[in-house]
Amino acid sequence: MSFTIAIDGPAAAGKGTLSRGIAEHFGLAHLDTGLLYRAVGARVRDGDEAVAAAQSLTQADLARDDLRSADVAQAASVVAAIPEVRAALVAFQRSFARRDGGAVLDGRDIGTVICPDAEVKLYVTASAEVRATRRFHELQAGGSDTTYDAVLEDVKARDHRDANRAEAPMKPADDAVILDTSDLDIGTVLAQAIKIVGNRR
Ligand code: C5P
Repeated sequence: MSFTIAIDGPAAAGKGTLSRGIAEHFGLAHLDTGLLYRAVGARVRDGDEAVAAAQSLTQADLARDDLRSADVAQAASVVAAIPEVRAALVAFQRSFARRDGGAVLDGRDIGTVICPDAEVKLYVTASAEVRATRRFHELQAGGSDTTYDAVLEDVKARDHRDANRAEAPMKPADDAVILDTSDLDIGTVLAQAIKIVGNRR
C-alpha cells in the first residue's frame, strides 16, 4: 500500500533532518528531491545543457560529492526555474512517491505539484536569519571559511528565485500543516511531525 508524506519548505529550514527522521520512525523510503535539481545544476556547471541533463540523469550524477556546495545550490535553483527541466523529473518523483510501503519526499513543490494527493503535507519554515545561522555553523564545522553575511545572502537569493518562478513556485499547499522551526529545536519539531503523521496513518 502506498502512503505519501510531502515535506516542503525553504533552504535550511530543517526539511532534510525532519524527512529522514520521519522515514526512519515509520520505516518509509525517503527521496531528497533537491538532489535531482542539484545534479542537473552540477552538470550545467560542467558545460551540459540543462534540459538534456535533466532528461539523462544517472545514478552517478546523483552520487557526485560536490552536490552539497553553495555554488551547486545556486545552479540548482537556476535550472529549477526551467519548466522542461521540472517536467523531465516529474515521473521519477511520482513513481517514487507511490511505491509500496510508503515514501517521504522533501522539496519545494511536493505537496502542490508532484503529489497533490499526498496523505500528509508539511511545510517546514524558519526566518532567513535562523536558517542562515544554521547553515553557517554547518559550513564552518565542515571547514569552510565563508561568512555569515555571505550565507544569508545566498539563502535570500535562493528563496527569492524559488518563490517567484512561474513554474511550481515554492509555497505551502492549502492543506499543508505549517511547522515554524525558528524558535524550536529540530527534535521538538520531529516529535510534532511524528504525531501528525501517526494520526493520519
Ligand atoms: O532542497 P535543496 O536545497 O537541496 O534544493 C536545491 C534547489 O533545488 C532549490 O533551491 C530549488 O531551486 C530546487 N528544488 C526545486 N524543487 C524541489 C526541490 C528542489 O525547485 N522539489
